Amino acid sequence: MARKGRLFVISAPSGAGKTTLIKQLLPQFSEVSYSVSHTTRPPRPGEVHGRDYFFIDEAGFEAMIETAHWLEWARVHGHYYGTSRTFVANQLEKGNTLLLDIDVQGAAQIMASGLDPVSVFIMPPSFEELRRRLENRGTDAAQTIARRLKNAEQEISQKHMFQYVLVNDDLETASAQLCRIFKKEMGRN
Ligand code: ADP
Ligand code: 5GP
Repeated sequence: MARKGRLFVISAPSGAGKTTLIKQLLPQFSEVSYSVSHTTRPPRPGEVHGRDYFFIDEAGFEAMIETAHWLEWARVHGHYYGTSRTFVANQLEKGNTLLLDIDVQGAAQIMASGLDPVSVFIMPPSFEELRRRLENRGTDAAQTIARRLKNAEQEISQKHMFQYVLVNDDLETASAQLCRIFKKEMGRN
């Protein structure tokens, strides 16, 4: 795959605040595009097809595994998630910088792909705070929250794979830290 552009990979346990941090970051980096993933998870209230995710069914996703459509894919919290190979290839070919918001399994696949991403792992300040954030977000059923919390430990055990590990305790502080990482890696002051 041609790669004139750069890849940033951001992972975190569900509820750590990754989406919130990315939403604060992107307006400051007009040259960075968000890679919209495909998923078989049902949309949350307010999520828009094509902006937050491309929402597809399991049969469609599995067919696209067979045709090697995915640059990386994983089954996360009971649903499929994947990144389109052609989308990433086209963006990198054009010299664009892409931000991939993907889980640790997907991050490992990207790291093994030779695409040399900048990788960031976002940690919650504590397990209790992670639970509070998932509950306060109010988007997931109790069973879904329990499953995501159960997976958090395993995800956190993989954080050593990442170049940067950032704790999202105070939002403004974490947001500024993420911004500094991007500035440094993009060669901006
Ligand atoms: P993720 O994308 O990692 O699953 P979200 O960005 O959806 O997580 O954040 C989960 C919840 O926690 C949201 O309700 C969000 O507003 C809240 N949140 C995010 N960062 C912080 C923070 N630093 N302090 C307190 N609450 C936060
Ligand atoms: P959510 O359902 O909360 O939006 O996302 C659940 C998890 O799936 C998060 O860790 C998120 O980063 C991850 N995820 C989202 N898109 C992709 C993707 O394309 N590939 C992989 N491997 N994980 C993804």
